[in-house]
Amino acid sequence: MAQDILDTAVRFVKGVGEVRAAQLNRLDIHTVRDLLFTLPRRYEDRRVVTLVAGLHAGEWATVAGTVRSVSWQQPRFGRGFVEALLSDASGTLLCRWFGARHLQNQLVTGEALVVYGKPVRRRGVLVLEHPDLERMDEERDESLHTGRIVPVYPLTEQLAQRTLRRILWQAVEKYADLAVDVLPPSTRQLQDWMRLGEAFHEVHFPTSLAAAERARARLIFEEFLCMQLVLVARKVQAEKFLTGRALVAPGRWVEQLRAQLPFQLTEGQEQAVREIRADMARPRPMHRLLQGDVGSGKTVVAACAILDALECGVQAAVMAPTEILAVQHARTLGRYLQPLGIRMGVLSSSLDARDKIAARAAMADGRTQLVIGTHALIQERVVFKDLGLIIIDEQHKFGVEQRGLLYGKGVTPDVLVMTATPIPRTLAMTLYGDLDVTTIRELPRGRQDIVTRVIGEAQLDKAYGFIRDQVAKGRQAFLVYPLVAESEQLEARAATEMFAQLQRHQLSGLALGLLHGQMEADDKESTMEKFRRGDLNILVATSVVEVGVDVPNASVMLVENAERFGLAQLHQLRGRIGRGEHRSYCILQGQPTSREAWQRLKVMEKTRDGFVIAEEDFRIRGMGNLLGREQSGALVLRAGDPLRDQALLEQARTEAFRLIESDPRLEAPEHAALRQRARALYRSASTFVKVG
Ligand code: ADP
Ligand code: MG
Repeated sequence: MAQDILDTAVRFVKGVGEVRAAQLNRLDIHTVRDLLFTLPRRYEDRRVVTLVAGLHAGEWATVAGTVRSVSWQQPRFGRGFVEALLSDASGTLLCRWFGARHLQNQLVTGEALVVYGKPVRRRGVLVLEHPDLERMDEERDESLHTGRIVPVYPLTEQLAQRTLRRILWQAVEKYADLAVDVLPPSTRQLQDWMRLGEAFHEVHFPTSLAAAERARARLIFEEFLCMQLVLVARKVQAEKFLTGRALVAPGRWVEQLRAQLPFQLTEGQEQAVREIRADMARPRPMHRLLQGDVGSGKTVVAACAILDALECGVQAAVMAPTEILAVQHARTLGRYLQPLGIRMGVLSSSLDARDKIAARAAMADGRTQLVIGTHALIQERVVFKDLGLIIIDEQHKFGVEQRGLLYGKGVTPDVLVMTATPIPRTLAMTLYGDLDVTTIRELPRGRQDIVTRVIGEAQLDKAYGFIRDQVAKGRQAFLVYPLVAESEQLEARAATEMFAQLQRHQLSGLALGLLHGQMEADDKESTMEKFRRGDLNILVATSVVEVGVDVPNASVMLVENAERFGLAQLHQLRGRIGRGEHRSYCILQGQPTSREAWQRLKVMEKTRDGFVIAEEDFRIRGMGNLLGREQSGALVLRAGDPLRDQALLEQARTEAFRLIESDPRLEAPEHAALRQRARALYRSASTFVKVG
């Protein structure tokens, strides 16, 4: 198909030289499409022209007048400024631009000028400081900055709003009407969507605010639609064309597990077990997401799925994002599965070469029924005898590609994705739009409350005193130190120094242990073991304790500089306490530098609901931060925001289903453009399941 004009490199847009192209590239704007999909953050309505006599301090206004004089003023103290006197039929107005010496030569007495700004009162006189300005007599039709509804763009680094606005004007003028509209007629009619070209015009240089809104919706819808098409196509294809194996487990092994559990499964867990079992029994591969809050008991549900699979005679694999989590999984799963005689293996990068070879051999000939590991599991040399079930934990830390690699290990194995970070529904739709979702809502009964308090630095000594009291009562505590710099080494050093200091002073006489990411695996494990056994009162740690530590006697957690953590991460950390019969306490010491940061921490005091927290985190930090660059890159959302634009996302998903059902491979000529677009956008996502 012909080259899409929107793929033109941004440096070919008029007014974009090499320097600006580089600046734009840094903002992740590479093509004309990227540029046109960079939507204004808001608009300023500068259509109404106000008479000078009608100006009020503090009220934004557009004024049209004639330049009476221009001069450079240098006060004795402070910055110099260019001052222009502008007059209209009703009066005269002072305009000032500090430091902008060049304007002195650019503004000419007698010329007509339009300015936009907020008047301030200086020594009793209204002044416009740094107003936007536009000459009336030249570029009349293109007066971009005043006399119209003017776009204001998001963070633009060194690029001035005016510059970006001018660049966008050029791009819209030249390319908008040549752009290929990918929405097929049937889709466009559905919502009476604008044509693409019109949408570009209206979103950047609107004729009315209402039109700008419709244009924005149209562009976001298109973006969501492309994304959903890929996900929905993958899902539908998996259902229709991939044949898996029907694993119909008699369920006797799971019954044995139940018989030895010290508790009953919650209704949510039972439901999850039923849904997974039903999926596995179907002759197509399962693609299910199991999400549940920390402590909701996902591990035992995973154990049931594993037992069902093994009972059917296939192997199972559990893949965790970190070594420490893999080890913890091996331990907790082992608690459930070893009494039943399941042969388990661990494959991780910390094994020495000989052990690795042995572990691989046992997987290849089927001696190992269940293997637990990290990324090492997806390396090429790993061969299974007959892999039937894959469980991926904390999936959002795996790239889409990695998920694909593992799929290739079995014929078409069942896949269960577990995430301990609950994510908002719409985000689940974007990330896991190809998966069915099971959510465990409730926590097992009898869970103790966790009291959470945000404190300042001044209260730290009191907090240490409180920890001493708790230890005196037989409890244990976590002390967590965040990433101080963007380096694991520095983080480790901060924790190490605190450890030494605490041992000498604040917590002298207590048994302290230290845990950080730079320690040898053996040392980590032995420290953890001591803490588990209760030989240590206190574990001083970096965020490595975030995952996979289960010590019911630990009832206090103190997180210092908590503002450096994301909310979801704090929630995970807090999930390490409140696991036993004791009332638990989470103390978040923070030095938030802004009101917003403070409020963010306060969310932790208010709720223990991981879904609420995740949504809040997502809102505050944005998708990129929550998911990591790699993953958010795969989403390719420039205009849309799954949380803010939920309704559009739902519409796009519904429409994607309609399109894929009517034309599974989007082969019809009217779908060709859309298909090409979706493929280009999600190239990496479509490497293992072809779209169209
Ligand atoms: P998650 O992985 O969802 O954070 P876990 O599977 O680690 O949760 O379970 C947390 C704790 O709750 C474990 O100590 C586990 O033994 C316990 N647990 C799991 N299910 C139940 C239940 N139905 N009743 C009581 N305790 C449970
Ligand atoms: Mg767990």
